[in-house]
Amino acid sequence: MARFGMVIDTAKCVGCADCVVACETENNVPEGYARDWIKQVATGKFPNTQLEIRSERCNHCSDAPCVTACPTGASHFHDVGGIVLVDHNECIGCKACIASCPYDARFVHPEGYVDKCTFCVHRVEEGLDPACVSVCPTHCMHFGDLDDPNSEVSKLLNSRKHHSLLPEAGTKPNIFYLI
Ligand code: SF4
Ligand code: SF4
Ligand code: SF4
Repeated sequence: MARFGMVIDTAKCVGCADCVVACETENNVPEGYARDWIKQVATGKFPNTQLEIRSERCNHCSDAPCVTACPTGASHFHDVGGIVLVDHNECIGCKACIASCPYDARFVHPEGYVDKCTFCVHRVEEGLDPACVSVCPTHCMHFGDLDDPNSEVSKLLNSRKHHSLLPEAGTKPNIFYLI
């Protein structure tokens, strides 16, 4: 089975937030909520500090604590690429998943269920890139199968220094940031 993930080049991200706007439009994200966001983080040690600009979202973790915590099975791994999804009809809004996610990637939708990034599974199943990836003006985001050694994402990870967020949390995130 494929393992879908993203590789994001922080050296190319200009923080324009086009990815955030594209996600809101594509997924009808209600006003005041977000499935993705831009974070600016200072890295390194003075005087060699740098500003890393990152587009963040659910990491579609391979060892997802939100899936384990969910009492109803609403949070689950999709059979396409291990994408972590929430079945809105099964969600009872208990927020156990929100408490378990170390990335603060989830929110309670005004309609009562928990929502988050879906990796735009509706587009991916049609062979398209996620909306955020497709609109990035600097082409800093890449989406693909991390388990395919010939995929663009695998080649980027094999050729560039990178990191993931909170690897110490043990969730095996599937979004990687090129340094
Ligand atoms: Fe679950 Fe959070 Fe990982 Fe997404 S980032 S799969 S919501 S633990
Ligand atoms: Fe599962 Fe919904 Fe509870 Fe989250 S809020 S743990 S998705 S039932
Ligand atoms: Fe939003 Fe889709 Fe990008 Fe996830 S993959 S942040 S749902 S546009």
